Amino acid sequence: MTTTFPGTSVTTGHAHPPRRSVRARPEAVLALIAAGVVAVVGMWWANTPSVAGFDDWLTNAGRITGLLAGYAIAVLLALMARVPALERGVGSDRLARWHSMGGRYVVGLAVAHMLLIIWGYALTDRTDVVRETVTLNLTYPDVLKATVALLLLVGVGVVSARKIRPKLRYETWFHLHFYTYLAAWLAFGHQLATGAEFAVAPVARTSWYVLYLGVAALIVWYRFLTPVRLAVRHRLRVSRVVPEAPGVVSVYVTGRRLDRLRAEPGQFFRWRFLTGHLWWSPNPYSLSAPPGASEMRITVKDLGDQSRSLAGLRPGTRVLAEGPYGAFTASGRRARKVLLVAGGVGITPLRALFESVPAASGDLTLLYRARDERDLVFRAELEEIARARGATLRYCVGPRAVIGDPFTPATLAGLVPDLPRHEAYVCGPAEMTRAVTAALRAAGVPKRRIHHESFEF
Ligand SMILES: Cc1cc2nc3c(=O)[nH]c(=O)nc-3n(C[C@H](O)[C@H](O)[C@H](O)COP(=O)(O)OP(=O)(O)OC[C@H]3O[C@@H](n4cnc5c(N)ncnc54)[C@H](O)[C@@H]3O)c2cc1C
Repeated sequence: MTTTFPGTSVTTGHAHPPRRSVRARPEAVLALIAAGVVAVVGMWWANTPSVAGFDDWLTNAGRITGLLAGYAIAVLLALMARVPALERGVGSDRLARWHSMGGRYVVGLAVAHMLLIIWGYALTDRTDVVRETVTLNLTYPDVLKATVALLLLVGVGVVSARKIRPKLRYETWFHLHFYTYLAAWLAFGHQLATGAEFAVAPVARTSWYVLYLGVAALIVWYRFLTPVRLAVRHRLRVSRVVPEAPGVVSVYVTGRRLDRLRAEPGQFFRWRFLTGHLWWSPNPYSLSAPPGASEMRITVKDLGDQSRSLAGLRPGTRVLAEGPYGAFTASGRRARKVLLVAGGVGITPLRALFESVPAASGDLTLLYRARDERDLVFRAELEEIARARGATLRYCVGPRAVIGDPFTPATLAGLVPDLPRHEAYVCGPAEMTRAVTAALRAAGVPKRRIHHESFEF
């Protein structure tokens, strides 16, 4: 079933233009990380006059992997420090992907470091690897703590594996990651105490301190102090909870001077609702309407304990919101025409963009995929926006067996005239996002004009 609701004129509702914020370019961030890798290897090179014998090769390979692991864990923590320039420029979605790939490098490098060092030292000391492991842990400064750090990192890596992660609750997964802070702290001492580079080169030692203390300062400021500062400044409270569809509610949150948050349609916050059992769980939800100066709205589907509990929130409940995060916004858009593609509860950020993204009459299209008519949320609002803005709204409702695949290149091109000249924003289940992205590419939309937000964590 497909319905079209063309309209006639343009309005942007209560959207207001945000002030420009600093945004780090993804390529620049990657170049900076790569420059750090070169500097770290250079540090080893400068402090290694020669390598002689198999044991020395092993030990030096262990030193390089150890240095790179130490550097990579600092980078990993910096990427997730919620630095606004990174969140807005690179986007939380891409940062999470980099973080998860980086996590695999850290664990791989740290394990390789341990094995290579033990083997190299065992050959030099003419002993076996078991004895060498015991000697290293019991007699070398801080090595035992580093071993505990490695076990923690491997543990976090295992629970983050693609097969295990979907079985975890969001808050379990979120809180487990705090062990990486502990691991970085436990491993730091042995790097300075046993790393040959740091013993002989004060510049290397100072750089390492600057790197780690800098990252620690970013984490403390952005992850811990900023949410408290925002809470004091904005005094957020739940004002009302409105049912939208079976299992879906909107939560309205009011506060003071919310325009100073500089949140943009398409972005999300991590929300803590300060009730007895919800306060410790900061779940991410997108704004489902452009933020106003005194009110914001999120819309939540009950997928688990926390999301289900939001239906029972009482007006007046205090709220801590960490954000705004995400690069899924109209900033940096290149094309005049805009296509929004939503699947299920992925409609939330697109609902906000549908109302606010600058577009002339006839230049804006929203495709909204749902399994069942009853699952369509914001129906009246979307139709009103479409009518007022002269935008096209199409619902693709029903099982695939009945309506066919709405996201083949041919179907999409049929639904959206002039498809290759659109800027596209996609939010929905991972499988749908992949299918839509592939169809858009095949239909001729360049990759840089396709933006997506993932609700997976
Ligand atoms: C950037 C971002 C923006 C988001 N915006 C919205 C929004 O606007 N509206 C909304 O309803 N949701 C949104 N989500 C998803 C939402 O954060 C989660 O569904 C919610 O935090 C789940 O918490 P819970 O305690 O209710 O469920 P849990 O108890 O943590 O999970 C119960 C089960 O459901 C699975 N599960 C829960 N959520 C998801 C998910 N998103 N994807 C896959 N499996 C899941 C878990 O793996 C687990 O097996 C967003 C997520 C992200 C990352």
